[in-house]
Amino acid sequence: MIRVVFVAASLLFLVLAWITGPDHRLSDVFYLLSYGFGGWFGLLSALRSLAAKDIDIDLLMILAALGAAWIGAPAEGALLLFLFSLSNVLQEYAIGRTHRAIESLAKLKPASARKLANGSEPINCPLEEIHVGDQIRVLPGDLIPLDGSVVSGDSSVDESSVTGESIPVNKTTGAKVFAGSLNKNGSLTVQVERESADSTLARMISLVEHAREQKAQTQRMLEDFEKHYAAGVIVFTLLLIAVIPKLYGVSFNEGFYRAITVMVVASPCALIISTPASILSAIARGARCGILFKGGIPLERGARIRAIAFDKTGTLTQGRVKLQQIVTYHPDRSEADILGLAASIESHSEHPLAKAIVQEAHARGLSLPALDSFESTPGRGVTAKLDGRKHWVGRSSWLREIGVSIETDKSDELRSLQDEGFTAIGVAESTPDGTTRLLAWIALSDSVRPDAADTLRQLRQSGIHEITMLTGDNQRVARRIASELGIDTWHAALLPEDKVQLIRDLSKRSDIAMVGDGTNDAPALASANLGIAMGAAGSDVALESADIVLMASDLNKLPLALNICRATRRIVLQNLSFALGIIAIMVVLTLALPIWGIEVPLPIGVVAHEGGTVLVCLNGLRLLVGWHK
Ligand code: ADP
Ligand code: MG
Repeated sequence: MIRVVFVAASLLFLVLAWITGPDHRLSDVFYLLSYGFGGWFGLLSALRSLAAKDIDIDLLMILAALGAAWIGAPAEGALLLFLFSLSNVLQEYAIGRTHRAIESLAKLKPASARKLANGSEPINCPLEEIHVGDQIRVLPGDLIPLDGSVVSGDSSVDESSVTGESIPVNKTTGAKVFAGSLNKNGSLTVQVERESADSTLARMISLVEHAREQKAQTQRMLEDFEKHYAAGVIVFTLLLIAVIPKLYGVSFNEGFYRAITVMVVASPCALIISTPASILSAIARGARCGILFKGGIPLERGARIRAIAFDKTGTLTQGRVKLQQIVTYHPDRSEADILGLAASIESHSEHPLAKAIVQEAHARGLSLPALDSFESTPGRGVTAKLDGRKHWVGRSSWLREIGVSIETDKSDELRSLQDEGFTAIGVAESTPDGTTRLLAWIALSDSVRPDAADTLRQLRQSGIHEITMLTGDNQRVARRIASELGIDTWHAALLPEDKVQLIRDLSKRSDIAMVGDGTNDAPALASANLGIAMGAAGSDVALESADIVLMASDLNKLPLALNICRATRRIVLQNLSFALGIIAIMVVLTLALPIWGIEVPLPIGVVAHEGGTVLVCLNGLRLLVGWHK
């Protein structure tokens, strides 16, 4: 605000000086005041940089204005400082808009919540006093204050602030809800699962804020370049001061004037602001749509992506796996027995297959025996100790590796389950005599996301020429899903390390993005040029493991995310070429036109220079408001 006042004061005294005219005693005082107000913040920043042995643009501007005053053109100098400070304020406003876009997310957190204490009426409590395990009541029209799961009630909830998805989602018992989303019509009782400071929304905000500090490569290059360039401009100007009078046969003052005009038009203000203005806009825009870009580098990489590898389970498929069939091999143990056993082991796993098994056991009202120990082997299965015996639930190849004997008729049966399109996993146990035996096959199935085919088509149209599916599931299921979605290349029966190797190989051919659910695909996400995790709301690992995070469990944000990356690159390139173009044209004009007797006035140079800077900022802001198609 104080800066705006200074800009206005600088203009006011400039006008007063003009009105009083150059012969009046007061005009010098007015010019001095106009210089003071217009140049104050520039001077501070120039001195700060000098103290750090850096030369910046502010110094160039201050020197140019002082030079103008010295050769008796204070009006030009004052105008320069006024426009320079004005354009700085406009730039700050533009960049500030991207800040405000993110601050508006932070406003979505209410200060208090209605805590339910031992059955009585809910009491209003500050969020800091509510902890994991407490229950809160959320009334219609309330913002949901904390992450948790619904214990009773039924309502539709607008989650757009978290996931970017505008269609409200129905929530009933068992559903997860996120802080910052809006409860529309019903009353919900929610069991708190995260402290306020750890909520999905809070983590989103801190990630986005962190992202803004991660400079894009282009930006870093430009900032290094600024220091040398600014020093170069000063040297070049001194050189011009020395040679122009001789070269053009003009007086020292005229030559000096021309030299400082060159110094102003050659300053790289627009060049420096061109990249951050665009990147910050893109990051803020993404955050509004439920797309988190973890800085400028993912944005730059996203624009180069030509190939995408998709994980199958939970990414191309809904991840809402259903148990279809159990084939048992143990004469003394019932199907319910084996399901209860498998479910009690799987209840410790986050895998979609595991959840399906637990869900079915609950649906059948089975009681789950307690475990002595549990171990998960990602991409293979899970192991547990129970009643002193080891048990395994997992893929057949892994069971074989462990030494579970699988007779021909059993593997025939496995194949026929897979032929039906099921994902089949085995349940095995160790026996007292030291051998291991297969207890059952459990067949499960998952359906393709309804929007997957459409998303893949959009991606192909936008220039992604290679789409690959990677899965740990069996060949037959993979083939069925690939053909359903029109994917030509797919690799099945992969172990997590195979996925990593494949991604490495694919990335040798072209820049590749890996899209996964983020929970059990972290290594593959990390080894791609660009890791994209989806459905990250509520999952900490997914938030951490990727370069770009899609909050919603929904594929359709993927084309938009890549589109924002490409638009950002386009706008950065436009800005860079525009900024460089203005510098080149104005320097050439300032030095060439006098040959035909035309002098470029310093104010024209200043307007071209500052105007270019503001235009570049506004061009970047197009990304924030979505005018970049
Ligand atoms: P995808 O590539 O389809 O996401 P994963 O790599 O997560 O699959 O797992 C590959 C295979 O490993 C699964 O198809 C399943 O056979 C087995 N598996 C992984 N985790 C588990 C688990 N928790 N319980 C049972 N089997 C599992
Ligand atoms: Mg997976």
